[in-house]
Amino acid sequence: MESKAIRRIGVLTSGGDAPGMNAVIRAVVRTASANNISVLGVRRGYSGLINGDIIEMAARSVDGIIRKGGTMLYTARCPEMMTEEGLQKAADTCKYLGIDGLICCGGDGTFRGAQALSRKGVPCIGVPGTIDNDIVCSDYTIGFDTACNTAVECIDRLRDTMQSHERCSVVEVMGRRAGHLALNVGCAVGATATLLPEREIDFETDVIEKMRMGRIKGRNHHIVIVAEGYGSAQSVADRIHESTGVDTRVTILGHIQRGGSPTSQDRIMATRMGYAAVRALMDGKTNRVIVLEDHRITDLDIEEGLSRKKDLNQDLFEAQQAVAI
Ligand code: ATP
Repeated sequence: MESKAIRRIGVLTSGGDAPGMNAVIRAVVRTASANNISVLGVRRGYSGLINGDIIEMAARSVDGIIRKGGTMLYTARCPEMMTEEGLQKAADTCKYLGIDGLICCGGDGTFRGAQALSRKGVPCIGVPGTIDNDIVCSDYTIGFDTACNTAVECIDRLRDTMQSHERCSVVEVMGRRAGHLALNVGCAVGATATLLPEREIDFETDVIEKMRMGRIKGRNHHIVIVAEGYGSAQSVADRIHESTGVDTRVTILGHIQRGGSPTSQDRIMATRMGYAAVRALMDGKTNRVIVLEDHRITDLDIEEGLSRKKDLNQDLFEAQQAVAI
């Protein structure tokens, strides 16, 4: 069966913001414009569909945004979308406005929304945009590289002052459910220990003993990375202080990790994925998520994508552990 020609599409960003979301919007708008497809920007995630918060977009309305953090369409969490009534309202808005397809950039939850709308007859394509890199089906999520670099830059600064005062810095890195960001940051800053929700550790051996040995071998300061989902950074710091007597300081990087100009990797990935999302709609696809798989951009059924399991990079975990002495 030949698919219906796409004349108008919508684009939205949803869930937590990630650097590079603007570059996705730009790629979507420009690819659509080049193919004579008009674009509506849906503001504040799915609530924009439910409340009709929608703007017209054109190639020139996305000038200069590739280098900007955040998202020009704003983002939001919209619990109403999880009710039958809210979902129906969102689908009705798409039908009323003649939206032939919708591109939804965000994380797992955003894809569930896209899946629910697809079932209501609105063709939807998801694009992975989240700093956590925890989308199981994709090797990479837009925003991860920028967040990683931001955290590393901040921690490098902390290290200078920790070294001067011979202290231990316990740094909480974002990642409520996944430790990918913390693991990469821990490796890049040369942390003494990296505490992750996915890996049980023996605190005495893997943190305290390492610090004691480090001191014997002349290391006078330490950086300990704690993923948000592991537990309280303050309790980790208290425990270190009680066991070693070392002066500890806690830093919670928090939302600073979400901001800033996207790195080249995030801009390029966002451009490739945004382009692929429009092409997928033009090919008549629906209920798909754009992914990076073995260095190739491709698309997968959302359900299949969400049911896969992504563990931490074990090689990276082992290498990071091995050199942290
Ligand atoms: P992040 O990884 O940054 O948290 P996310 O996309 O996973 O991003 P969520 O808050 O989980 O963030 O989901 C974003 C939005 O997607 C929700 O606020 C809601 O509007 C919609 N959504 C989530 N789950 C569903 C669902 N099962 N059905 C319909 N809509 C959903």
